[in-house]
Amino acid sequence: LQFEVQIIGSNSAVAEHGRYPTSQVVSIHDKVYLVDCGEGTQLRLKHFKVKRSRIQRIFISHLHGDHYFGLIGLLTTFHLLQRTSPLTIYGPVDLQRVIELQLSLGSTNLHYPLHFVATDPDKFQLVFEDEDVQVFSLPLIHRINTTGFVFKEKVLPRKINKSAVEGMQLTPENYQDLREGKDICSADGQHHQNARLTLSGHVPRSYAFISDTLFHPELSAIISGADLLYHEATFMNEHAGRAKETFHSTSKQAAEMAKLAGVKKLLLGHFSSKYHDLEPLLEEARSVFPASYIAREGEIFQV
Ligand SMILES: [Zn+2]
Ligand SMILES: [Zn+2]
Repeated sequence: LQFEVQIIGSNSAVAEHGRYPTSQVVSIHDKVYLVDCGEGTQLRLKHFKVKRSRIQRIFISHLHGDHYFGLIGLLTTFHLLQRTSPLTIYGPVDLQRVIELQLSLGSTNLHYPLHFVATDPDKFQLVFEDEDVQVFSLPLIHRINTTGFVFKEKVLPRKINKSAVEGMQLTPENYQDLREGKDICSADGQHHQNARLTLSGHVPRSYAFISDTLFHPELSAIISGADLLYHEATFMNEHAGRAKETFHSTSKQAAEMAKLAGVKKLLLGHFSSKYHDLEPLLEEARSVFPASYIAREGEIFQV
């Protein structure tokens, strides 16, 4: 089952060195989510051949331009392409005002329903759930209200082992119990252990997106054990003072977070334009957390 993250943009503030501001496509079981939408995102999506029309939910971390200035363009393109399927945007409460003002001053009446769900900048909370996934927002420490997001795959039902149940007289309730991992009692009064009649589904995976934050170790408890962590690494350790002043993190701090949280893999992103070459940032992170990678644009990472 698909669970992957494609990097669309991974630079901070200014587009530079061929890198674009923050945006990612998270694909989970055939559904496509967009996380942040910096300027240029719709063109980059096209460049990387992402089917934009498949995006049904967009998650915005905060209202600094490098995370959402591409949104109005994308929303308008959907309109011009005669989109009719609904779109929901999760983000800071003021985002709705900004977008609705832009649309109304242009007398644009969207062909498709657009919904907003406000994130709470102060608490960890569930913002979206369907049969496959739960998405949580979590408070970050930045100059303005900012949240990260955690995508958690749900525990999937166990699979019936067809050869093991062959010839057994089982009721629909028995099958349901088996899928839910329960033991069953068949019509002849016999007790059957679940593990003998089913095959395991799979271990649910999770992805944590942490952009634009001061390093704060307490966060590690919330994202603990994530299979993949994207953490901003705006600066290198030699500019730790600058990182603190601007409420950002360093590459080393991102790696420390990955280590504290016991994640499997770390992606570094949100790079300052002062770095043309990103290898030194990677080396710095790897000295603390070896399973670190640069979030290179266009690359797809499996969760
Ligand atoms: Zn930013
Ligand atoms: Zn910011």
